[in-house]
Amino acid sequence: MALDLSAALPDLLMAVTDIESVSGNERALADAVEEALVALPHLTVERDGDAVVARTTLGRGTRVVVAGHLDTVPLAANLPSWREGDLIYGRGTCDMKGGVAVALAAAAQLSEPRHDVTWIFYDNEEVEAVKNGLGRLARNRPDLLAGDFAVLMEPTGARIEGGCQGTLRFEVTTSGTAAHSARSWLGHNAIHDAGVLLRTLADYEPRTVEVEGLEYREGLNAVGITGGIAGNVIPDRCTITVNFRFAPDRDIADAKAHCAQVFAGHDLVWTDESPAARPGLDRPAAAEFLTAVGGEPRAKYGWTDVARFSALGVPAVNFGPADPGKAHTDDEFCPVADLHACHDALLRWLG
Ligand SMILES: [Zn+2]
Repeated sequence: MALDLSAALPDLLMAVTDIESVSGNERALADAVEEALVALPHLTVERDGDAVVARTTLGRGTRVVVAGHLDTVPLAANLPSWREGDLIYGRGTCDMKGGVAVALAAAAQLSEPRHDVTWIFYDNEEVEAVKNGLGRLARNRPDLLAGDFAVLMEPTGARIEGGCQGTLRFEVTTSGTAAHSARSWLGHNAIHDAGVLLRTLADYEPRTVEVEGLEYREGLNAVGITGGIAGNVIPDRCTITVNFRFAPDRDIADAKAHCAQVFAGHDLVWTDESPAARPGLDRPAAAEFLTAVGGEPRAKYGWTDVARFSALGVPAVNFGPADPGKAHTDDEFCPVADLHACHDALLRWLG
């Protein structure tokens, strides 16, 4: 199905939404996006798997990146899209086809942007990090991600959210001695020992820190616990899974050192890590963007692909239509007013 990038924004959003693109099934939407962008003479379009990258090459001194993922979480009987008043409903309307529609419309209109622009539409954001299309581009074609500043059009309610927290996951295990529970004095209960670790977590006082003017709240929490093999056996192992969300003034090494200190004397087994991203609001291209958008920027909670840009040395913010609290809900929607607010901001910034 062909996309008409000059259509009214709500119609374009509905057209993009109605090409189903649950993670792993982005081909049809990537084809439609590529076809629509290739038709624009001011853009050079490249394709990597189901990621589409379209660039202006005007020889400007600055290049900015505007990016959005094409995939959605699985359907919940919420396609095709529908409209109720000034709200567009359907899978992906909030996360994040509203941002994709705005970026597509702006890409078509901005034939002579003030900065060179790289428009990126990519696959597999909603699944395991190894599949992430932006990560693949960073490995295959880092040149395509280069820029002075990046805007990721994830839902933020049309406000700027700077940087993002990092995340670490690790396991900490207590060990005891197995025995028949009828003669428990012959064993040592590892689950009981886990109580001390849980108390440490419950008593932990997370920091709230300011980074480049934005406030970040950290958190250290147990997110899982396993132990015990049968109803009549004293357990000899108990494993707690802990998640640490940390502010962008720590890198991964600092964050790990902090966790090791909190659990001094225990071996921590690291299972997952993603770095935090500084907001980068002190860069000139970012300052211009702030002026164009207006309003007070705030910190981003949760991990987003801005950290991938940050890792490549490109400061990045989140800015897109729709309330992030509706992301992944069965009744997700995007307000029409947010589409216009974000679109107007991009045109003010780059026009
Ligand atoms: Zn998203």
